[in-house]
Amino acid sequence: MSTIEATSLTKNFGSFTAVRDVDLSVGQGEVVCLLGPSGCGKTTTLRMIAGLESVTEGEVRIGGKLMNKISPEKRDIAMVFQFYALYPSVSIGGNIEMPLFRAGLSAAERRREVARVAGILQLDDVLDRLPGQVSEGEKQRAAVARAIVRDPNCFLFDEPLSRLDVELRHSMRGQIKEVLSGLSKATVIVTHDQLEALTMANRIAIMRDGMIEQIGTPHEVFSKPRNIFVAGFIGSPKMNLFEGRFSSLSGDMATIELSAERVTIPVPSAVSNMQGETLTLGVRPRALEPVDSPNQHSLTGQVELIEPMGAETLVHVRDESDQDLRVVVPRHIKVIIGEVLHLACDLSQTHIFDGKGLAVR
Ligand code: ATP
Repeated sequence: MSTIEATSLTKNFGSFTAVRDVDLSVGQGEVVCLLGPSGCGKTTTLRMIAGLESVTEGEVRIGGKLMNKISPEKRDIAMVFQFYALYPSVSIGGNIEMPLFRAGLSAAERRREVARVAGILQLDDVLDRLPGQVSEGEKQRAAVARAIVRDPNCFLFDEPLSRLDVELRHSMRGQIKEVLSGLSKATVIVTHDQLEALTMANRIAIMRDGMIEQIGTPHEVFSKPRNIFVAGFIGSPKMNLFEGRFSSLSGDMATIELSAERVTIPVPSAVSNMQGETLTLGVRPRALEPVDSPNQHSLTGQVELIEPMGAETLVHVRDESDQDLRVVVPRHIKVIIGEVLHLACDLSQTHIFDGKGLAVR
Protein backbone atom coordinates (compact mmCIF):
# COMPACT_ATOMS: atom_id res chain seq x y z
CA MET A 1 0.00 0.00 0.00
CA SER A 2 1.22 3.49 -0.83
CA THR A 3 1.33 5.38 2.47
CA ILE A 4 3.93 7.46 4.28
CA GLU A 5 3.99 7.87 8.01
CA ALA A 6 6.38 9.87 10.13
CA THR A 7 6.04 9.60 13.88
CA SER A 8 7.78 11.94 16.35
CA LEU A 9 10.44 12.58 13.72
CA THR A 10 13.40 14.53 15.06
CA LYS A 11 16.72 15.49 13.48
CA ASN A 12 19.65 16.98 15.34
CA PHE A 13 22.72 18.34 13.58
CA GLY A 14 25.12 18.43 16.55
CA SER A 15 23.39 20.55 19.18
CA PHE A 16 21.00 22.14 16.64
CA THR A 17 17.54 20.60 16.21
CA ALA A 18 16.45 21.07 12.58
CA VAL A 19 13.26 18.97 12.85
CA ARG A 20 11.41 18.46 16.12
CA ASP A 21 8.79 15.84 16.88
CA VAL A 22 7.09 15.89 13.48
CA ASP A 23 4.04 13.66 12.96
CA LEU A 24 2.89 13.29 9.38
CA SER A 25 0.61 10.75 7.80
CA VAL A 26 0.08 10.66 4.03
CA GLY A 27 -2.60 8.32 2.73
CA GLN A 28 -2.81 6.46 -0.57
CA GLY A 29 -3.39 8.93 -3.40
CA GLU A 30 -2.89 11.89 -1.11
CA VAL A 31 -0.61 14.86 -1.86
CA VAL A 32 0.75 16.64 1.21
CA CYS A 33 2.83 19.81 0.82
CA LEU A 34 5.40 20.81 3.42
CA LEU A 35 5.28 24.60 3.36
CA GLY A 36 7.22 27.12 5.39
CA PRO A 37 9.90 29.80 5.40
CA SER A 38 13.51 29.08 4.50
CA GLY A 39 15.31 26.95 7.08
CA CYS A 40 12.16 25.64 8.81
CA GLY A 41 13.12 21.97 8.22
CA LYS A 42 11.09 21.00 5.13
CA THR A 43 13.93 19.46 3.13
CA THR A 44 15.41 17.72 6.17
CA THR A 45 12.02 16.11 6.86
CA LEU A 46 11.75 14.97 3.23
CA ARG A 47 15.33 13.66 3.24
CA MET A 48 14.63 11.59 6.38
CA ILE A 49 11.59 10.07 4.67
CA ALA A 50 13.76 9.32 1.62
CA GLY A 51 16.56 7.83 3.74
CA LEU A 52 19.08 10.42 2.56
CA GLU A 53 19.37 11.74 6.12
CA SER A 54 19.50 9.57 9.23
CA VAL A 55 16.73 9.90 11.81
CA THR A 56 17.79 11.10 15.27
CA GLU A 57 14.52 10.07 16.90
CA GLY A 58 11.17 8.79 15.71
CA GLU A 59 10.02 6.50 12.94
CA VAL A 60 9.51 6.58 9.19
CA ARG A 61 7.11 4.02 7.74
CA ILE A 62 6.41 3.52 4.06
CA GLY A 63 3.57 1.19 3.15
CA GLY A 64 3.36 0.38 6.87
CA LYS A 65 6.96 -0.94 7.02
CA LEU A 66 9.55 0.61 9.32
CA MET A 67 12.22 2.27 7.15
CA ASN A 68 14.65 3.82 9.64
CA LYS A 69 17.45 1.38 8.82
CA ILE A 70 16.55 0.76 5.17
CA SER A 71 18.74 2.36 2.48
CA PRO A 72 17.13 4.91 0.09
CA GLU A 73 17.21 2.63 -2.96
CA LYS A 74 15.32 -0.09 -1.06
CA ARG A 75 12.51 2.25 0.08
CA ASP A 76 10.65 2.06 -3.24
CA ILE A 77 10.26 5.80 -3.52
CA ALA A 78 10.96 8.22 -6.38
CA MET A 79 12.31 11.70 -5.77
CA VAL A 80 12.20 14.76 -8.01
CA PHE A 81 14.58 17.53 -7.04
CA GLN A 82 14.83 21.22 -7.87
CA PHE A 83 17.93 20.37 -9.90
CA TYR A 84 16.56 17.56 -11.97
CA ALA A 85 19.93 16.48 -13.37
CA LEU A 86 19.09 14.86 -16.68
CA TYR A 87 22.12 13.31 -18.39
CA PRO A 88 22.97 15.92 -21.07
CA SER A 89 24.39 13.46 -23.60
CA VAL A 90 21.44 11.05 -23.32
CA SER A 91 18.15 11.66 -25.15
CA ILE A 92 15.00 12.55 -23.21
CA GLY A 93 13.70 9.04 -23.94
CA GLY A 94 17.00 7.54 -22.75
CA ASN A 95 16.86 9.55 -19.52
CA ILE A 96 13.31 8.36 -18.82
CA GLU A 97 14.30 4.78 -19.64
CA MET A 98 17.25 4.69 -17.24
CA PRO A 99 15.48 3.43 -14.07
CA LEU A 100 13.86 0.64 -16.13
CA PHE A 101 17.24 -0.35 -17.50
CA ARG A 102 18.62 -0.58 -13.98
CA ALA A 103 15.59 -2.62 -12.91
CA GLY A 104 16.44 -5.16 -15.66
CA LEU A 105 13.36 -4.79 -17.86
CA SER A 106 13.58 -6.09 -21.43
CA ALA A 107 14.00 -3.65 -24.34
CA ALA A 108 10.37 -4.18 -25.40
CA GLU A 109 9.07 -3.57 -21.86
CA ARG A 110 11.23 -0.44 -21.57
CA ARG A 111 9.94 0.94 -24.87
CA ARG A 112 6.35 0.32 -23.85
CA GLU A 113 6.75 1.99 -20.42
CA VAL A 114 8.62 5.02 -21.80
CA ALA A 115 5.87 5.50 -24.40
CA ARG A 116 3.22 5.23 -21.67
CA VAL A 117 4.66 7.92 -19.38
CA ALA A 118 5.70 10.11 -22.32
CA GLY A 119 2.03 10.06 -23.29
CA ILE A 120 0.94 11.08 -19.78
CA LEU A 121 3.42 13.97 -19.68
CA GLN A 122 3.08 14.99 -23.35
CA LEU A 123 6.69 14.27 -24.21
CA ASP A 124 6.06 11.98 -27.19
CA ASP A 125 7.49 14.47 -29.69
CA VAL A 126 10.76 15.16 -27.88
CA LEU A 127 11.88 11.66 -26.84
CA ASP A 128 14.75 11.65 -29.38
CA ARG A 129 16.08 15.08 -28.48
CA LEU A 130 18.89 15.82 -26.03
CA PRO A 131 18.04 17.76 -22.83
CA GLY A 132 19.82 20.81 -24.33
CA GLN A 133 17.34 20.78 -27.22
CA VAL A 134 14.11 20.98 -25.21
CA SER A 135 12.42 23.71 -23.13
CA GLU A 136 12.74 24.03 -19.34
CA GLY A 137 9.16 22.82 -18.95
CA GLU A 138 9.89 19.72 -21.04
CA LYS A 139 13.02 19.03 -19.00
CA GLN A 140 10.97 19.29 -15.81
CA ARG A 141 8.33 16.95 -17.21
CA ALA A 142 11.07 14.51 -18.27
CA ALA A 143 12.33 14.49 -14.66
CA VAL A 144 8.81 13.69 -13.47
CA ALA A 145 8.48 11.02 -16.17
CA ARG A 146 11.75 9.43 -15.03
CA ALA A 147 10.39 9.37 -11.46
CA ILE A 148 7.03 7.80 -12.28
CA VAL A 149 8.15 5.35 -14.96
CA ARG A 150 9.16 2.57 -12.65
CA ASP A 151 5.92 2.74 -10.65
CA PRO A 152 7.43 3.39 -7.20
CA ASN A 153 5.38 3.10 -4.03
CA CYS A 154 5.40 6.85 -3.31
CA PHE A 155 6.76 10.17 -4.52
CA LEU A 156 8.84 12.87 -2.89
CA PHE A 157 9.27 16.24 -4.63
CA ASP A 158 11.70 18.91 -3.38
CA GLU A 159 10.86 22.35 -4.80
CA PRO A 160 10.19 20.77 -8.20
CA LEU A 161 9.08 23.98 -9.91
CA SER A 162 11.31 26.61 -8.34
CA ARG A 163 13.59 26.91 -11.39
CA LEU A 164 10.77 27.60 -13.82
CA ASP A 165 9.46 31.04 -14.75
CA VAL A 166 6.10 32.21 -13.39
CA GLU A 167 4.10 31.31 -16.49
CA LEU A 168 5.54 27.80 -16.69
CA ARG A 169 5.16 27.18 -12.96
CA HIS A 170 1.51 27.98 -13.29
CA SER A 171 0.89 25.45 -16.07
CA MET A 172 3.21 22.80 -14.56
CA ARG A 173 1.38 22.98 -11.21
CA GLY A 174 -1.79 21.91 -12.94
CA GLN A 175 -0.09 19.26 -15.04
CA ILE A 176 1.74 17.65 -12.12
CA LYS A 177 -1.42 17.71 -10.02
CA GLU A 178 -3.31 15.96 -12.79
CA VAL A 179 -0.59 13.32 -13.26
CA LEU A 180 -0.40 12.67 -9.51
CA SER A 181 -4.15 12.36 -9.15
CA GLY A 182 -4.13 9.61 -11.77
CA LEU A 183 -1.41 7.59 -9.99
CA SER A 184 -2.98 7.10 -6.55
CA LYS A 185 0.34 7.25 -4.66
CA ALA A 186 1.24 8.92 -1.38
CA THR A 187 3.19 12.07 -2.31
CA VAL A 188 5.06 14.68 -0.28
CA ILE A 189 6.00 17.96 -1.96
CA VAL A 190 8.35 20.49 -0.36
CA THR A 191 7.77 24.09 -1.35
CA HIS A 192 8.09 27.60 0.01
CA ASP A 193 5.56 28.85 -2.54
CA GLN A 194 2.11 28.98 -0.94
CA LEU A 195 0.31 29.20 -4.26
CA GLU A 196 1.99 25.95 -5.28
CA ALA A 197 0.89 24.33 -2.02
CA LEU A 198 -2.65 25.71 -2.16
CA THR A 199 -3.19 24.47 -5.72
CA MET A 200 -1.38 21.11 -5.62
CA ALA A 201 -1.98 19.71 -2.14
CA ASN A 202 -4.83 17.76 -0.62
CA ARG A 203 -3.38 18.84 2.72
CA ILE A 204 -0.72 21.37 3.67
CA ALA A 205 1.65 21.03 6.64
CA ILE A 206 2.89 24.49 7.62
CA MET A 207 6.29 24.33 9.33
CA ARG A 208 8.22 26.77 11.47
CA ASP A 209 11.46 26.21 13.39
CA GLY A 210 11.45 22.46 12.74
CA MET A 211 7.85 21.91 13.87
CA ILE A 212 4.49 21.56 12.15
CA GLU A 213 2.32 24.50 13.17
CA GLN A 214 -0.83 23.27 11.44
CA ILE A 215 -1.83 20.57 9.00
CA GLY A 216 -5.08 20.72 7.07
CA THR A 217 -6.74 21.14 3.70
CA PRO A 218 -5.91 24.34 1.79
CA HIS A 219 -9.34 25.65 2.78
CA GLU A 220 -8.83 24.81 6.48
CA VAL A 221 -5.42 26.46 6.83
CA PHE A 222 -6.69 29.56 5.02
CA SER A 223 -10.06 29.94 6.72
CA LYS A 224 -9.22 28.53 10.17
CA PRO A 225 -5.56 29.28 10.91
CA ARG A 226 -4.57 27.75 14.25
CA ASN A 227 -2.34 30.61 15.26
CA ILE A 228 -0.98 34.02 14.25
CA PHE A 229 1.99 32.52 12.40
CA VAL A 230 -0.21 30.45 10.07
CA ALA A 231 -2.64 33.37 9.68
CA GLY A 232 0.18 35.66 8.59
CA PHE A 233 1.93 33.06 6.43
CA ILE A 234 -1.01 31.79 4.36
CA GLY A 235 -2.85 34.22 2.12
CA SER A 236 -1.69 36.95 -0.20
CA PRO A 237 -1.72 39.85 0.50
CA LYS A 238 -1.12 38.99 4.14
CA MET A 239 -3.86 39.07 6.77
CA ASN A 240 -4.09 42.36 8.71
CA LEU A 241 -3.29 41.78 12.38
CA PHE A 242 -4.18 44.35 15.05
CA GLU A 243 -3.24 44.17 18.69
CA GLY A 244 -6.06 45.04 21.06
CA ARG A 245 -8.00 44.18 24.18
CA PHE A 246 -11.42 42.71 24.89
CA SER A 247 -13.50 45.58 26.20
CA SER A 248 -17.06 44.37 26.62
CA LEU A 249 -19.28 41.52 25.60
CA SER A 250 -22.93 41.61 24.64
CA GLY A 251 -24.35 38.24 23.67
CA ASP A 252 -21.95 36.89 21.07
CA MET A 253 -20.73 40.34 20.04
CA ALA A 254 -17.54 41.66 21.63
CA THR A 255 -16.25 45.19 21.49
CA ILE A 256 -12.53 45.20 20.95
CA GLU A 257 -10.35 48.18 21.78
CA LEU A 258 -7.59 48.66 19.28
CA SER A 259 -5.01 51.34 19.93
CA ALA A 260 -6.93 54.10 18.13
CA GLU A 261 -10.49 52.85 17.74
CA ARG A 262 -13.07 50.27 18.75
CA VAL A 263 -14.64 47.59 16.67
CA THR A 264 -17.47 45.20 17.48
CA ILE A 265 -17.31 41.69 16.06
CA PRO A 266 -18.93 38.32 16.77
CA VAL A 267 -16.98 36.00 19.03
CA PRO A 268 -17.32 32.34 20.02
CA SER A 269 -18.78 31.51 23.43
CA ALA A 270 -15.29 30.69 24.81
CA VAL A 271 -14.59 34.40 24.85
CA SER A 272 -16.96 35.15 27.74
CA ASN A 273 -14.15 34.71 30.27
CA MET A 274 -11.55 36.76 28.37
CA GLN A 275 -12.74 40.28 29.14
CA GLY A 276 -9.85 42.67 29.70
CA GLU A 277 -7.34 40.30 28.09
CA THR A 278 -5.05 41.28 25.26
CA LEU A 279 -5.68 39.74 21.86
CA THR A 280 -4.91 40.06 18.19
CA LEU A 281 -7.68 40.72 15.69
CA GLY A 282 -7.10 39.30 12.19
CA VAL A 283 -8.90 40.51 9.07
CA ARG A 284 -7.94 39.45 5.55
CA PRO A 285 -7.51 42.24 2.97
CA ARG A 286 -10.47 40.92 0.97
CA ALA A 287 -12.71 40.93 4.06
CA LEU A 288 -12.63 44.74 4.33
CA GLU A 289 -15.02 46.81 2.26
CA PRO A 290 -15.15 50.60 1.87
CA VAL A 291 -18.45 51.99 3.23
CA ASP A 292 -19.87 55.55 3.13
CA SER A 293 -19.84 56.20 6.86
CA PRO A 294 -18.22 54.57 9.88
CA ASN A 295 -20.15 51.94 11.83
CA GLN A 296 -19.40 49.73 14.82
CA HIS A 297 -17.79 47.07 12.61
CA SER A 298 -15.55 49.41 10.61
CA LEU A 299 -11.98 50.67 10.75
CA THR A 300 -10.85 54.05 9.47
CA GLY A 301 -7.66 55.29 7.81
CA GLN A 302 -6.14 57.35 5.05
CA VAL A 303 -5.15 55.92 1.65
CA GLU A 304 -1.39 55.98 1.33
CA LEU A 305 -0.53 53.76 -1.63
CA ILE A 306 -2.48 52.14 -4.46
CA GLU A 307 -1.21 49.02 -6.25
CA PRO A 308 -3.23 47.89 -9.30
CA MET A 309 -3.28 44.05 -9.51
CA GLY A 310 -5.35 43.55 -12.66
CA ALA A 311 -8.97 42.78 -11.77
CA GLU A 312 -8.37 44.00 -8.21
CA THR A 313 -6.55 46.85 -6.52
CA LEU A 314 -4.43 46.57 -3.38
CA VAL A 315 -4.89 49.70 -1.26
CA HIS A 316 -2.59 50.53 1.65
CA VAL A 317 -4.40 52.53 4.29
CA ARG A 318 -2.64 54.13 7.27
CA ASP A 319 -4.93 53.94 10.30
CA GLU A 320 -4.94 56.33 13.26
CA SER A 321 -2.50 54.17 15.22
CA ASP A 322 -0.08 54.42 12.28
CA GLN A 323 -0.59 50.81 11.19
CA ASP A 324 -0.53 49.84 7.52
CA LEU A 325 -3.86 48.24 6.63
CA ARG A 326 -4.01 46.18 3.42
CA VAL A 327 -7.32 46.21 1.59
CA VAL A 328 -8.17 44.53 -1.72
CA VAL A 329 -11.04 46.08 -3.66
CA PRO A 330 -12.46 45.28 -7.11
CA ARG A 331 -10.90 47.43 -9.84
CA HIS A 332 -14.12 49.38 -10.46
CA ILE A 333 -13.99 50.90 -6.95
CA LYS A 334 -12.00 54.10 -7.37
CA VAL A 335 -9.89 55.35 -4.47
CA ILE A 336 -7.46 58.24 -4.38
CA ILE A 337 -4.34 58.85 -2.32
CA GLY A 338 -5.06 60.91 0.79
CA GLU A 339 -8.74 59.92 0.88
CA VAL A 340 -10.17 58.81 4.25
CA LEU A 341 -11.71 55.32 4.00
CA HIS A 342 -14.15 53.64 6.38
CA LEU A 343 -13.67 49.91 6.00
CA ALA A 344 -16.34 47.52 7.23
CA CYS A 345 -15.16 44.07 8.33
CA ASP A 346 -16.94 41.08 6.83
CA LEU A 347 -18.14 39.65 10.16
CA SER A 348 -17.97 36.07 8.91
CA GLN A 349 -14.25 36.48 8.20
CA THR A 350 -12.73 37.94 11.35
CA HIS A 351 -10.20 36.02 13.45
CA ILE A 352 -9.26 36.43 17.09
CA PHE A 353 -6.00 35.18 18.61
CA ASP A 354 -5.35 35.09 22.35
CA GLY A 355 -2.34 36.50 24.17
CA LYS A 356 -0.33 33.36 23.27
CA GLY A 357 -1.16 33.80 19.58
CA LEU A 358 -3.57 30.85 19.42
CA ALA A 359 -6.88 31.14 17.56
CA VAL A 360 -9.90 31.56 19.83
CA ARG A 361 -12.59 29.25 18.53
P1 ATP B 1 14.90 26.01 2.38
O1 ATP B 1 13.48 26.38 2.01
O2 ATP B 1 15.80 27.20 2.48
O3 ATP B 1 15.46 24.90 1.55
P2 ATP B 1 14.20 24.16 4.53
O4 ATP B 1 12.94 24.49 5.23
O5 ATP B 1 14.15 23.07 3.53
O6 ATP B 1 14.84 25.48 3.91
P3 ATP B 1 16.27 22.59 5.77
O7 ATP B 1 17.14 22.52 4.55
O8 ATP B 1 15.53 21.38 6.15
O9 ATP B 1 15.26 23.83 5.67
O10 ATP B 1 17.18 23.07 6.99
C1 ATP B 1 16.65 23.20 8.29
C2 ATP B 1 17.73 23.75 9.19
O11 ATP B 1 18.74 22.76 9.34
C3 ATP B 1 18.43 25.00 8.62
O12 ATP B 1 18.70 25.88 9.70
C4 ATP B 1 19.71 24.45 8.04
O13 ATP B 1 20.74 25.42 8.07
C5 ATP B 1 20.01 23.28 8.97
N1 ATP B 1 20.76 22.21 8.30
C6 ATP B 1 20.38 21.54 7.20
N2 ATP B 1 21.29 20.61 6.84
C7 ATP B 1 22.29 20.71 7.78
C8 ATP B 1 23.53 20.00 7.99
N3 ATP B 1 23.89 19.01 7.19
N4 ATP B 1 24.26 20.38 9.05
C9 ATP B 1 23.87 21.38 9.89
N5 ATP B 1 22.72 22.07 9.75
C10 ATP B 1 21.93 21.73 8.71
